[in-house]
Amino acid sequence: MKSVVVAGSFNVDHVWRCDALPAPGATIAGRYSTGPGGKGFNQAVAARRAGAGITFVCALGDDAGGALARQLAAADGIVLAAEASSEPTGTAGIYVDSRGRNSIVIGPGANASLSTGFMAANAALIGAAGVLLAQLESPVESIEAALGIAREAGVLTVLNAAPANAPSTIGLLKLADVLTPNETEFAALLGRHVGERVEADDVAALDGASLHALCRKLSGNTVVVTLGAVGVFVSHDEERLRGDSQPYYRVAAEAAQVVDTTGAGDAFNGALAASLAQAPDAAFIKHVRFANQYAARSTESEGAAAAMPRMTPADAA
Ligand code: ATP
Repeated sequence: MKSVVVAGSFNVDHVWRCDALPAPGATIAGRYSTGPGGKGFNQAVAARRAGAGITFVCALGDDAGGALARQLAAADGIVLAAEASSEPTGTAGIYVDSRGRNSIVIGPGANASLSTGFMAANAALIGAAGVLLAQLESPVESIEAALGIAREAGVLTVLNAAPANAPSTIGLLKLADVLTPNETEFAALLGRHVGERVEADDVAALDGASLHALCRKLSGNTVVVTLGAVGVFVSHDEERLRGDSQPYYRVAAEAAQVVDTTGAGDAFNGALAASLAQAPDAAFIKHVRFANQYAARSTESEGAAAAMPRMTPADAA
């Protein structure tokens, strides 16, 4: 079975749970916890726990955060290909209020130095994978380089175009065999690249034909829009249905005893990539159903990487 290469970010998350988010000039008390984060690492953990062999390509500082990344990757059986950076390992300061709303400050640190040269140096590794999974918390030119190397080698590419404010180009999006924005990222990409103004809050309510038409403007390949508690919308190019019978369809979210939806998108992406690597010939809808199930399970405990369930497509079937 071929593996998944995840290219992306690692952060040390510092989380304060407070009654209310701190106002400018305020000093307040909160319950502190720390743990791993970064979309790249979260997705690597999800893909690993969903049964795939994983190599995580990232950049780490020579510090306690870097050591934590190595220790946690080893504990989950994730192979690290880490570029050594003179910057500190990435960090995130996260405040969460009693209603679950958050404010986040990211210190990209080492993540910002993940280089195109390092991608080129790892071309053989990327080229031997079944799936390359990437996000946009790393330099856009490095992600573009990784996607290009994978494409050239015939490796299936999955791009989670997150976060919404990350720089991107339509050329980068076109390198993704499967593009997986959430509603906010989808609306941002439409506005930035094809001049379509859609409010993120309105995306889930659009009829299937309209949503499909918008997806087609963004990509000639498959687009999977994640819709939170509503589920998922899938749109294929008519010529490339990836084993499905319909060019577009919805999959409703699975029922879940929701505790914390942080990282649900990362769970979905990791599980989707893992499933695609494990059964490349299965109909695409099977992978989507598994990822949808996996992501729902991830909402049933607190945290991001820590909340990724151990559940493979075989367990779910
Ligand atoms: P986050 O930024 O919190 O990681 P996201 O905004 O990128 O998440 P969402 O679209 O919110 O991603 O969620 C991804 C997927 O997780 C959904 O498509 C769905 O499969 C699952 N999911 C999210 N919320 C729920 C929920 N309340 N119940 C069941 N499944 C959910």
